[in-house]
Amino acid sequence: MKNQDLVDFLSSLGVCEICQLRYLKARGTEYKDIKETLQKFDVKLNKNVVYDGKLISYEAQPAKKARIGICPTCMGLFSKDFQMELLGCILASDFAKYDCQKIVLAISLPMSLQLRQLSMWFALKRKFGASIDDNIPPDVPIKEAVKLILHPIICDKLEKEYDANGLMINIDLTHKLENEEVEKLVQLNKEAFPAKAAYQKRIEISRGLLEKQYQPSKVKAETFEKYFEIPCTQVEESLKLGSIDLQGPLVCVAGRYRKLSRELSHTPWILSGQRLMDDSIEEIIIRHVGPHFTEKLDRITFMSSGREDVDVRCLGKGRPFVLEIPNATRSCLSQNQAFQMERAVDGSGKVSILNLQVVAREESIHIKTGEEQKKKFYRALCALKEPVTAEILDKLQISTSFDIQQKTPIRVLHRRPLHTRPRKIYSVKAKVQRGSTKVLIIDIVTQAGTYIKELVHGEFGRTKPSLSSIVGKPIDIQALDVVGIDLDWPLEVNNSTCIE
Ligand SMILES: [Zn+2]
Repeated sequence: MKNQDLVDFLSSLGVCEICQLRYLKARGTEYKDIKETLQKFDVKLNKNVVYDGKLISYEAQPAKKARIGICPTCMGLFSKDFQMELLGCILASDFAKYDCQKIVLAISLPMSLQLRQLSMWFALKRKFGASIDDNIPPDVPIKEAVKLILHPIICDKLEKEYDANGLMINIDLTHKLENEEVEKLVQLNKEAFPAKAAYQKRIEISRGLLEKQYQPSKVKAETFEKYFEIPCTQVEESLKLGSIDLQGPLVCVAGRYRKLSRELSHTPWILSGQRLMDDSIEEIIIRHVGPHFTEKLDRITFMSSGREDVDVRCLGKGRPFVLEIPNATRSCLSQNQAFQMERAVDGSGKVSILNLQVVAREESIHIKTGEEQKKKFYRALCALKEPVTAEILDKLQISTSFDIQQKTPIRVLHRRPLHTRPRKIYSVKAKVQRGSTKVLIIDIVTQAGTYIKELVHGEFGRTKPSLSSIVGKPIDIQALDVVGIDLDWPLEVNNSTCIE
């Protein structure tokens, strides 16, 4: 089979030039310049076809073909008019509400297109015989061609980049003939696959099934022809846009927070329907960062690398956190905007945030991985009943790591199961608070998940050993600060530097 013969045959059936290239199995950029590609495939240009730059229209043709029908194999999908209509519909949707540089297209096609592919497959077999394979489609399938042809054009016109994590544009295409043809397909299916049809009460014919089952090796042309034309013929109407639906990307915004208050919960603290604290870290951050990305703040998920108790502050470089924002209308955050948000959160006086930035979705898993292995750095303010002696101070200088056994503290038993967990304490370093001989400042480095208050006072022997048991005296913890978290993520960025 010569390329020229193939193209002449397809032309005679009114197949559009783009589809002719599909049947020549053109790849990638070969769809950009039709004229050049046809020459490359050694196909002489049809005199009746006018090449209008990259796009082609028919000139007045012999009487028989004077009616300009629509391509029987793509039903107008690849025509310039349809591309314009598609673009117009995208622009007329809520598209402008989304400020995303990246888009992803999901175009759903009517089954009629697959049926037409099969019809043309049979027609080519009849015409060219053995050179047409029974199992391998003779064309670049429409679904693939949409990616090769339409996606780049739409991205180009919209001046967007194609990216799987971008704004998802779901486009549902329909055709006037689809219902009628699907009805016929149901009948055909009963006849072509009677064994399967017999035990299937309801025949659900999916696009996947069409792709797999409907090939010349599995369906006879004679059976197919009872229901559908071979070859398929031009249609009067082009495909229509059924619906268009936009789904913004999932945007992840990471940063580190410092908790400056001893009266602030991590997330809304509600007990028996009653709020115990007015505000929470989660709410303060979402309130100031969320509106930039979405109107639906309640859909945002707040995650952090561990958490503090209500009365524990978190200082130092702060604790890494990430917000997962679904269906975001924006995917970028300038340093200037980030800095304004950081300042707004700081304005709460309870929480301060820094290093605010948009991160890749894959990166946000850092927040949860290796949780158990992480080291945590604390500073505890502790009181003894008597002045601190040199001996006590000496016992609380521990530079080699040791293990403790810790029972779930009574205060969290209502929400955590009772277990005894081994935990590693990496170091302990105590000094006397200036001006008060009974008060110690103790720096402690522990494995993540250690209950620090219980490590200090021992909770009646439920934590063994404890700092109290080590010195042999009761120690009362008065205040606790987290001073460091062993996670180098997200990247340090100083958003204030962009302000003039
Ligand atoms: Zn076509």
